[in-house]
Amino acid sequence: MKYIKRLVSIIFYYSGLCFILISLVNMLRKRKRLLILMYHGVGDKSLNIDDNLPLDEFRQQIEYLNQKYKIIAFDQAVEYLKSNNRIFDKPLAVLTFDDAYQSIYDNVYPLLREKKIPVTIFVPVSFVGQPGKWLREEQVDGRIMDWDMINELSRDNMITIGSHAMRHLKLSLLGIEEMRDELLKSKTILEDKLKKKVEYFCYPYGQVAECSALIIGEVKKCGYSAACSTIWGTHSSAQNLFALRRIRVDYHDSFFDFKLKTKGAFDWLEFFHLLKRRS
Ligand SMILES: [Zn+2]
Repeated sequence: MKYIKRLVSIIFYYSGLCFILISLVNMLRKRKRLLILMYHGVGDKSLNIDDNLPLDEFRQQIEYLNQKYKIIAFDQAVEYLKSNNRIFDKPLAVLTFDDAYQSIYDNVYPLLREKKIPVTIFVPVSFVGQPGKWLREEQVDGRIMDWDMINELSRDNMITIGSHAMRHLKLSLLGIEEMRDELLKSKTILEDKLKKKVEYFCYPYGQVAECSALIIGEVKKCGYSAACSTIWGTHSSAQNLFALRRIRVDYHDSFFDFKLKTKGAFDWLEFFHLLKRRS
């Protein structure tokens, strides 16, 4: 499947269709260019762990992003989407890390701290300090940071901590009370532990069904200001502030794939993701 996606994306990009479509969509929806990248673990590829991007590849991606984009914090991104502010001379990028793996503390944080690059980390609160139980057994490196690590990161003003719910469940499968519990309890516990306001949410699994109008309504009621989906896209807008588009960076992406993804060559996936809602 990944080869088909790659082939379609190469054709989409090099035929020029990508730019025609993106320009058209931007014009019609008055969208702004804001690239939100979704990462998971960064570490040792030899462990054969899904989503564990090798550190040297991550470093190469960061160098590329740093040249081509202005990497901003989540607060700035939300502010930017809500305003008509176009003062930035470069396209904007935001780095997000789902699941709060310890590998982010061990490998990513030292690198990004040195370069003063802001990041956002979404924590599945029930699994703090433990392996994420939704992961397969062999994902030995899928340990989630403990509270000391999360607290340390949270004190750095380049780091934003958001909620990834409590138990990493699909909210669409829960009753309304259980859903509220996932949203509100995770926020309250994080705020209590970190002594900071937690304003951003990231839907576990994050596809279209996970950010329905009903679920978005609950996210707003619980006091969040924005939320990330896993719906594909290199462009977000104020209209989808509670289902922000992101591009997923996979451990098997080559640097060429990564550049294609950031340039919008895989953006046709957004249409398929959105179509699922209607089928
Ligand atoms: Zn997750």
